[in-house]
Amino acid sequence: MPDCDACGLSLNGSVNFCPRCGQPQNDAAKKRLDDYVKRQAALDAETGAQSTDGTALADRASYVVGYVAVVAGFAVASDIRTVLFVLGGVAVLPPVGRLLGRVTGRSVGIRLRAVVFAVLIAAGVAAGQFL
Ligand SMILES: [Zn+2]
Repeated sequence: MPDCDACGLSLNGSVNFCPRCGQPQNDAAKKRLDDYVKRQAALDAETGAQSTDGTALADRASYVVGYVAVVAGFAVASDIRTVLFVLGGVAVLPPVGRLLGRVTGRSVGIRLRAVVFAVLIAAGVAAGQFL
């Protein structure tokens, strides 16, 4: 019976991965694991999922800001300000950036979303001066 190269566990000859440490036990299994890791990395890059804390924090902050803007939009009045506030609130949400990034082929980062948000909210506030 062969042993696992990585942890030394005695293996049943037909296993693809070591049940104790997960080490691939043949070339086919090694390739499968490689492909899986590459696929996951590509998927993470595509969906904008990142392990950096800064991005996660910015995403969380933009959810809060977007939510507040939408609620404020509905609370303030039922006129053009509501539309502008709600649009601004929705525009800043991370999934909208990912969706637009997929449609346009370019990633729509937090900065661009923040600018769109600021413009729409400012327009909403300005509209309030004239109503
Ligand atoms: Zn092992």
